[in-house]
Amino acid sequence: MLCLLFVNIQAELFSAVKIILTIFTNNFKQTIMYDVVITGSGLGGLQCAYILSKEGYNVCVLEKHHQLGGCLQTFVRNNCIFDTGMHYVGGLDEGQMLWRFFKYFGLLDKVKMRQLNKDVFDMLEINGRTYKYAQGYDRFVDNLLEQFPNDKKALNDFVAMLKNIANATELFLNKPSQAFEDKPTLKYFEHNAFDFIKSITDNNELQQILSGANTLHFHKSAKAPLYVHMVILNSLVESAWRFVDGGHQIADVLVDEIQKHGGTIRKNAEVEEFVMNSNDTAIEAVRLKHGERVHAKKFISDIHPVKTFELIESKLVRKVFTNRINDIEQTIGVFSLYVVLEKNSFPYLNYNYFNCNNDNIWVADVYKEVEWPSGYMLFTPATSHTDKYADCLMAITFMDYNDLKAWENTTVEKRGEDYKAFKKEKAEILIDFIERKYPGLRKKIKKYYTSTPLTYRDYTGTHQGSIYGNMRDCNNTMKTLLPVRSKVPNLYLTGQNINLHGVLGVSMGSLITSAHFVGGKYLFDKVNNV
Ligand SMILES: Cc1cc2nc3c(=O)[nH]c(=O)nc-3n(C[C@H](O)[C@H](O)[C@H](O)COP(=O)(O)OP(=O)(O)OC[C@H]3O[C@@H](n4cnc5c(N)ncnc54)[C@H](O)[C@@H]3O)c2cc1C
Repeated sequence: MLCLLFVNIQAELFSAVKIILTIFTNNFKQTIMYDVVITGSGLGGLQCAYILSKEGYNVCVLEKHHQLGGCLQTFVRNNCIFDTGMHYVGGLDEGQMLWRFFKYFGLLDKVKMRQLNKDVFDMLEINGRTYKYAQGYDRFVDNLLEQFPNDKKALNDFVAMLKNIANATELFLNKPSQAFEDKPTLKYFEHNAFDFIKSITDNNELQQILSGANTLHFHKSAKAPLYVHMVILNSLVESAWRFVDGGHQIADVLVDEIQKHGGTIRKNAEVEEFVMNSNDTAIEAVRLKHGERVHAKKFISDIHPVKTFELIESKLVRKVFTNRINDIEQTIGVFSLYVVLEKNSFPYLNYNYFNCNNDNIWVADVYKEVEWPSGYMLFTPATSHTDKYADCLMAITFMDYNDLKAWENTTVEKRGEDYKAFKKEKAEILIDFIERKYPGLRKKIKKYYTSTPLTYRDYTGTHQGSIYGNMRDCNNTMKTLLPVRSKVPNLYLTGQNINLHGVLGVSMGSLITSAHFVGGKYLFDKVNNV
C-alpha cells in the first residue's frame, strides 16, 4: 500500500515537473531574441548564417523540410546519390572567384570535387551536329575554330566580352564601394545576350552555338541579359567542376560551421507569417506552422520573393509592389529523370551532354508540350569509387508548369495515379529520345525515378516550380533585379532571386545581403584575404 502511494506521488511529481518544464521551455523559447532569423536553408540562407554567425551575430535558420540545403539536397536510391539542383560549377581553380568564396566559407578542403574534361566540359549537339565547349579561353576559341574557321574575329570578340564582364564582376570583390555605387555590371544586365551574339557574327550556326550556355539558365532570347549569360559561361570556361558524391556536402559543411559559431538551425520549422509589431513599422517575429513565434531584431528571407511577401500583412507592403513581384515571369521548370544503371554498363562521362532537337537553342522561346521534349541535358554524376563507369545518370529537360495544372492543388505523394501515369509516360518518351544518342540505354537501366516542376515547388518553395526563380529581363532590369531591401526596414532578401542563380550567383548574393549587416568593404576584404 505504502509502496503504491509512493509510486502515485512519484508519478504526480513527475507530471508536475513535466508541466513546469514545458511552461519554462515555452516561455524560454518565446523570450529568445535572435539578432537575425533566416527563413530557408538554401545556399543563400546558409551562407548568410555562416557569415553573420562568424561575425558574432546570434542567428537562427528555419527550414520547413527535414533536409537542409534547398536545391543542394540529394537523395539516395539503390546506393546512387542523386543531386536535385546541383550539377556542375565553374571558377574553382586556385584564385578564381568561386575558389575564393569556397575558401572563405571553409568548403575548399571539405567538399570533394572533380574537374571536368578540359577539352570538353559541355558537348552540345544541335540538330545532329556536335560542338565542344573547352576550358581555358584559348582552348575554347581553338576548339570552335575547327568548325568555324572563318569566324576567328567573332570568337575573339566573344571571349573579349567574357573577360570584360568577368573584370566588372571582379570589381565587385576588389572595390566593393565602387561596385555598389557605379554598379559596373548593371550595363551588362541591360544588354541583350542574343543581340550581342548577333552583333559579332552573321553566321546563324555560330550564333546558336554561342547561345548554347542559355540551356543552363533557361532564358528567352528577347529577355536574356548579357550579364547572366556571360558570368556563368565565363566561370565555366575558366574551369568547370563536379561535386563528387553529391552537392549536399556544401550544405553539410556550412551547417557544421554555423553551429560551431553558436548559430541555431531548425528543421521542420515552416514559417507561415512574418509578424509585424503593433505599430506596423517592422517585423518582430516569424510565426511557425504550429503557432510558435521566433523573435529577432532582423530577418533574412532566402525563399522566393513572391512567397516572402505573401507571408507579410502590412501597410508597408503595398499592392503595387506585390503586383510587380507577382508579375515577373518565372524561368521554366524541369522534368528530371534519375536513372540507376546496371553495374559497369555505361561509361562515366567527364562532361555534360546537351541535345537540342531543332535549330533554335533558345528552347524556352518555342516550348510546346506537343513537341516535348525538344532537347535535354544528360550527365553522369561523379562518385568517389570510380571514374570509369557510371552508377547512375541524370537527364533534365524543360517542362512548363502549365502542363501540370491538373495536379496544381496536390502535394507530394498525394497526387494520384494519373500523375504517376503522366510521369511514366514522359519518362518513357524521354528515354526513347535519349536512346537515339545512346542506343541500348534502356537495357542498361535498373530502375528510374522522376521529378517535375511540382516536386521543386513543394520541396524548395520555388514559385511555379521554376528552375531558377525570377527570369531576369534585360528590357526591364529594375523590375526583375530585386534589391536586398524592401520597405519593411528590418527585412533583407537573399538567394537566387537577387543578383543571380547558381552557386556562384547565390554566393555573390549572400555577400551582398550580409554586407548590409557588416559593411561591404569589411566583408569583401575578409573574403579576399582569407
Ligand atoms: C534542376 C536544377 C539544376 C541546377 N543545377 C545547377 C548547377 O548545375 N550549378 C549551379 O550552380 N546551380 C544549379 N542550380 C541552381 C542552384 O541550385 C540554385 O540557384 C541555388 O541552390 C538556390 O539557392 P537559394 O539560396 O536561392 O535557395 P533554395 O535552394 O531555393 O532553398 C530555399 C529553401 O527555403 C525553404 N523554404 C521555403 N519556404 C519556406 C518556409 N515558408 N519556411 C521555411 N523554409 C522554407 C525550402 O524548403 C528550401 O530549403 C540548379 C537548380 C535546379 C532546380
